[in-house]
Amino acid sequence: MNPFGYVQAGNDVSALSYKVQQAGSLFLAGGTCIVDLLTQGALRPPFLIDINALPLRAITLQDDNSLIIGALASNSAVAHHPSVLSGYPVLSESILAGASAQIRNAASIGGNLLQKTRCYYYRDPSFACNKRTPGSGCPAITGANRMHAIFGTSEQCIAVHPSDMAVGLSALDAAIHTESSRGKRQIAIDDFFLLPGDTPDRETILEQDELITAVEIPATPFARKSNYLKVRDRSSYAFALVSVAGAVVFEGNSVKEIRLSAGGVAHKPWRLQEAEQTLLGRALEEGVIARAMESAVAGAKTYRQNAVKVDLLKRCVRLMLHRFREMA
Ligand code: SF4
Repeated sequence: MNPFGYVQAGNDVSALSYKVQQAGSLFLAGGTCIVDLLTQGALRPPFLIDINALPLRAITLQDDNSLIIGALASNSAVAHHPSVLSGYPVLSESILAGASAQIRNAASIGGNLLQKTRCYYYRDPSFACNKRTPGSGCPAITGANRMHAIFGTSEQCIAVHPSDMAVGLSALDAAIHTESSRGKRQIAIDDFFLLPGDTPDRETILEQDELITAVEIPATPFARKSNYLKVRDRSSYAFALVSVAGAVVFEGNSVKEIRLSAGGVAHKPWRLQEAEQTLLGRALEEGVIARAMESAVAGAKTYRQNAVKVDLLKRCVRLMLHRFREMA
């Protein structure tokens, strides 16, 4: 492991000040992702800024029924919070589908959003990797790519984002609250994550000196009828081959509004907007579901080992819609 500097920030002002002063520094919250990468040599920051003393752990149901989750709230605290369990089941289910209980107890919500890809080549510094070392190459494109993306890939990178929670938040139209020396801003989750393009080392629109302070989930009629479905190699402590988060509002038997977002298939949570359009105003009959399944995989590009993801995604969409049909 490379030597690095370390400091504990007492408040947001000092955390941001350290970030500006120390080029290439990283914030340290739960450490469940970053410590692995430090020991593996995949990340070599010169400086870590420990932000655990910042008052960012509250989970608050607002008067307008939107939910504000502090960036340092643990994954477990959010998944088991009464307001989340009753009002946003897809968020609880997506968090509990990830990692292990011990990791969820330590991992923060902000850190969950910023966790690094599980691409084998990224985590092993003996391999080239454009995300770790820009311009060095992408061995996954012709190598081991069973876990890799089928949407939004580039010639530079085909990695997927590993977070289950982010997929759930995508279906709920969450917003990310941030703070920097330029002020505060709110970023829609769909705008927060970037596709790899020519700069796969840049994964979000966060600036170097910008801190995630909270996640906001709007009060939405979608939230109560929502569900998370994950296909993985074993039933716990495994990353998604494919997952789908869904939320729906019915009018009679017809779909009034619907959100579908897929995980394990792209560099960011992948909204299935064509499939959503296919379903609007229609009852969930088998013919309609079949069309939505095909729409969900339109434009997919597969690699040597991951063509199975196309079929898995179609089946996940079908199962999700069958579950919704039972709720209608
Ligand atoms: Fe690196 Fe992305 Fe290629 Fe994996 S897919 S080796 S993360 S550039």
